Amino acid sequence: MIPNQEQQAAQALVREIKNLAGKYAKRMRFMEVCGTHTMAIHAAGLKSLFPDNISLVSGPGCPVCVTEKHFIDHAILLAKKYDATVVTFGDLVRVPGSTGSLASWRSEGGSVRVIYSPLDSIEVALSQLPRPAVFLGVGFETTIPTVAATLKAAQARGVENLFVLPAFKTIHQPLKILAEQQDLNGFLLPGHVSAIIGSDCYRYLSEDFGKPGVIAGFEPLDILLAVRDLVRMTLEKSPAILNDYQRVVRHHGNPVARQIMNEVFEPADASWRGLGMIPRSGLAFRESYARFDAAARFPVEVPESKDDPRCLCAAILTGSRTPDRCGLFGKECTPEEPVGPCMVSSEGTCAAYYKYGAV
Ligand code: SF4
Repeated sequence: MIPNQEQQAAQALVREIKNLAGKYAKRMRFMEVCGTHTMAIHAAGLKSLFPDNISLVSGPGCPVCVTEKHFIDHAILLAKKYDATVVTFGDLVRVPGSTGSLASWRSEGGSVRVIYSPLDSIEVALSQLPRPAVFLGVGFETTIPTVAATLKAAQARGVENLFVLPAFKTIHQPLKILAEQQDLNGFLLPGHVSAIIGSDCYRYLSEDFGKPGVIAGFEPLDILLAVRDLVRMTLEKSPAILNDYQRVVRHHGNPVARQIMNEVFEPADASWRGLGMIPRSGLAFRESYARFDAAARFPVEVPESKDDPRCLCAAILTGSRTPDRCGLFGKECTPEEPVGPCMVSSEGTCAAYYKYGAV
């Protein structure tokens, strides 16, 4: 499709959304669960195209943002005590911990290596022998299968100094909690995660909670189409789960990726920024891969961590606040000097508002 045709298609969808929304007397609040959607929505200025009675709020789908400060503290204390190299994706490096970030610790001489794929952690570990290399296991179902495949490869190659500090999250349990919010009318469901877990597994949203959900891609047209479908289902009181991203997402997702993930990890309770401890919303090592568990292999006392009470990240991640309600936004908290993770992450809502404005 050429750009002009895309523009015409977008204009037609916006007209349809306005027409449908005009028939609905109340407000409609939809949650975009995934941080990549948040960025795409703001980059394209889509919010400014919607009528006043439609609002999109962010959800807990930015893995860096939902990872608690305690985890950063844990990683730094562990690495200091055991002289380990921290191996991580770049987004985590500047997330503030209680006494500084991984970046500030690196500037004091700490060993931090940034990688772009979990598989790179094997080469980092081998280059550090016999020093332990601890990969920070932050991510959702999109990332976890690759981490699991990395550990299988490390096992096969006999790499003995690679470990993972796990803070993995899975999406269904928090979605069930959020679906109980009366003022949320539906969900823009994540495209990347759904490519792994499939579209069939969200049925509880419509069947148990009466909320529609639409799996969407990341182009402006994808998002407009999904919002159109959410508005239509809300208006017609016919909640269902639609897959508007069929060029990537299948009904059953990617069973091979899930099998690898299930071979290495099993469900475990996990603590989420904004949502607290949620049973079976994370992953722990299965017995046969327990030797990779950095938390068990390198015990360390981690004091209780407290967030800056002025930071609204926790409320932003559950859709109950927007960054422009935070008194620190753009003043004491900027991407250069972040106070909370939502301003650091490339998928963070505060970073999206800062970069593109509240549109
Ligand atoms: S602007 Fe900064 S301090 Fe405010 S909620 Fe966002 S990350 Fe937290």
